[in-house]
Amino acid sequence: MPVVWSDRCLLHEPLEEIWVGVPTPAAETPARALAIRDALDARMVEAEPHPDEALLAVHDGELLAYLASAWQEWEGAELPDDPGQGRVVPYVFAHRELGARRTPTAVWARPGWFAYDTMTLVGPGTWEAARAAADAALTAVDLVVAGEPVAYACTRPPGHHVTRSAYGGSCYLNNSAIAASALLDGVEGPVAVLDIDAHHGNGTQEIFRGRDDVRTGSVHVDPGAGWFPHFLGFADESDGANLNLPLAPGSGDEPWLEAVAELARWAAGAAGLVVALGVDAAATDPESPLTASPAAFREAGRLLGELSVPTVVVQEGGYDLGTLGELVRSALLGLEEGRA
Ligand SMILES: [Zn+2]
Repeated sequence: MPVVWSDRCLLHEPLEEIWVGVPTPAAETPARALAIRDALDARMVEAEPHPDEALLAVHDGELLAYLASAWQEWEGAELPDDPGQGRVVPYVFAHRELGARRTPTAVWARPGWFAYDTMTLVGPGTWEAARAAADAALTAVDLVVAGEPVAYACTRPPGHHVTRSAYGGSCYLNNSAIAASALLDGVEGPVAVLDIDAHHGNGTQEIFRGRDDVRTGSVHVDPGAGWFPHFLGFADESDGANLNLPLAPGSGDEPWLEAVAELARWAAGAAGLVVALGVDAAATDPESPLTASPAAFREAGRLLGELSVPTVVVQEGGYDLGTLGELVRSALLGLEEGRA
């Protein structure tokens, strides 16, 4: 299957995450994309630029305009020199109880209108990389609409935690949602987004909430057990167009694959599929307590491949550089086997 790639995805260098007020090394690094690329021997396709309209189908223009200019604003206000913060990071938040009606004037207050955590820093190459990731997802959609059965977009930074107008969770643009919206225009019937990243695809769920043309399903570690995205991902958010399957920390192959199988059964009848492929449910991954094996990723791919509809695979999380590439490769091999 074609692998869509852009060198521009490497330009985002968050360096750090601010976790409980403390700078910690960033887990979402350019090395992730390179580790995946190096493990795949498939045909590489360069991501093609796409117009903003494809992004505006799922995001507010205000968010796009902010992300496009956030770093220049921050640098222009000399915040990297004084107080010495070299990345855009919020210190106040537009909590819903404030009843806030307008974006702030101060450059240092503005990220708090758009960001919902302190883990998702913006630097000099962030917008270009996020935009390139969206272009990669859209190029994969183009390939599938043109007749490829499956296309994989090696997107980075990831996207599934971004809502219509708020970014967070190391994500800036919701690549899977952008792909789903574009795929909807290219197939006859509803599209399903199935998210097997270890963390709930809260952004995708909220972007498509209340719509019956894009169904969103997610298997993930139970946010009620203390895991990101904390506020969302509970089973009782499920409705006809959304299915959440939270798993207890420590869950391994059997419950994880049963949940993936349930997602696939639930999505049957969709005319197109977007797989939000995070591989951080692996036992080797430091960012989640799920314990799936490499073989389980191959089997998960097979279960999703059996849907045999036009399929766009969008990379989400996965943080163990030693196993990341092989896990993605296993899932993609499984997808091809499932379709055969
Ligand atoms: Zn994740």
